[in-house]
Amino acid sequence: MTEVQQAVPAMPAAGRRFRAYTAKHLDGLAERAGLDAGERLAVRAVATVLPFRTNEYVVERLIDWDAAPADPIYRLVFPQSDMLPEADVRRIADLLAADAPESEVRAAVHIVRMRLNPHPADQLALNIPAIADEPLPGVQHKYPETVLVFPKQGQTCHAYCTYCFRWAQFVDEPDLKIATDEMSRVTAYLRAHPEVTSVLLTGGDPMIMGATVLRRYIEPLLDERLGRIESIRIGTKSLAYWPQRFVSDPDADDTLRLFEEVAAAGKSLALMAHFSHPRELESELVSEAVRRIRAAGAVIRTQAPLIRSINDDAATWAAMWRRQTRMGMVPYYMFVERDTGPQGYFAVPLARGYEVFRDAYRSVSGLSRTVRGPSMSATPGKVCIDGIVEVAGQKVFAMHMIQARNPDLVGRPFFARFDPDAIWLSDLEPAFASKFPFEPDPQEPFALWAPEMLAVT
Ligand code: SF4
Repeated sequence: MTEVQQAVPAMPAAGRRFRAYTAKHLDGLAERAGLDAGERLAVRAVATVLPFRTNEYVVERLIDWDAAPADPIYRLVFPQSDMLPEADVRRIADLLAADAPESEVRAAVHIVRMRLNPHPADQLALNIPAIADEPLPGVQHKYPETVLVFPKQGQTCHAYCTYCFRWAQFVDEPDLKIATDEMSRVTAYLRAHPEVTSVLLTGGDPMIMGATVLRRYIEPLLDERLGRIESIRIGTKSLAYWPQRFVSDPDADDTLRLFEEVAAAGKSLALMAHFSHPRELESELVSEAVRRIRAAGAVIRTQAPLIRSINDDAATWAAMWRRQTRMGMVPYYMFVERDTGPQGYFAVPLARGYEVFRDAYRSVSGLSRTVRGPSMSATPGKVCIDGIVEVAGQKVFAMHMIQARNPDLVGRPFFARFDPDAIWLSDLEPAFASKFPFEPDPQEPFALWAPEMLAVT
């Protein structure tokens, strides 16, 4: 038995304190999954580039160890040896095996990370707002009505997803991080921007913060001078990775009282809950957490990316949406795996993603059809694949923008040439136009729906 296995009780009680497992526990846990020494070294090499963290609840309550390493929840949190290019994994594994100086390992790791597009959608270049020409780091303002705030103490998660598009937030590269604790500057910015009606606290996972710290970020948003703010959203995977946060943690009740204050201030509080697999919904703890959050006046909307080998089939999504609806949550988004980190490993082609979405969507009741997708959160906005159709003899993707940096483009359909292998917007070519509507050239009209011309394939 490994040191890790000895340290982990078989079935932690609901009231146990949070305990994280980090890189130093990885080898023992990978051994538990049946990996041999060579595979474990490769896994450690991957975990030197991308972040690894999990916890007792995920390890003992969610993972099916009899099915590991193929188990979807195991794959959700444990790095895979082939997630990164083979040459990169081998180079770093060789350095680890040779016990190379830390500076040498760090230099090699840095080179690999910079090839992984750490900030997709030009987050660092395009979306940082300013007050009187002074940048406001840790805040993103991409769409007119919504501002994202990255609380400084909320930039970790209860466990890290292997496919995470925010992986750069969690690695030892300070220049890649987005975070703020300057709420007075954030509220000053919001007061000066009446177009903003919604604030999203995101991370990492803001629910990693205790109630007292969370209050420092939420309370200023309830100021009556910010009466135009209609909704506060919190992006979180805590319901899946640590539901105790809302049930039995020492500050669970204080957190729910804070949620009640948001409702009492006349604003909508929405937990944007990240669920990747139906198994994450099965625990009685999750049901109780959902019940308590809803009783505090908050709504829970659910979202996740479509990920190869974790949730890339329609039955999995239909089961998730049904269960979420039954529990009183609102299915909201199916995302496309973003163009960063191990995208090549986890991506599902857009054509296949559309099929998965449609097959799942048509098999659930209208109450679950609140969900949108598959949607790409790309530089110009959120681009949704609406279908694969034939127009004037040409097979194309029909698409529209759910959100757009240019609000005029929201909801306006357009087409891309069908490509069965495309995994991201940048792989697509416009159809019936020389450019996509979000590409700069105001002279050029873009292709519009002509329903009578369409034949659904
Ligand atoms: S919970 Fe979200 S931010 Fe945290 S690791 Fe998973 S995908 Fe990334």
